[in-house]
Amino acid sequence: MDEESARLVRTWVRLADEATGRRSEEGICDHCGKREYLSPEGAERLCVQCYLDGAAEARRAS
Ligand SMILES: [Zn+2]
Repeated sequence: MDEESARLVRTWVRLADEATGRRSEEGICDHCGKREYLSPEGAERLCVQCYLDGAAEARRAS
């Protein structure tokens, strides 16, 4: 995923979270170590880019 797409996805996810009342959270991604907006889903705290990369991996594997 290129940087512009990642930026757009981050914005979209944050807006969706705010719309559904979830609190936006920033922190250190468990996977890449970047300080990012994190997805609160699952056991790991992943930035949106790693979260989507993982989802793409899962789709390829299945
Ligand atoms: Zn990450």
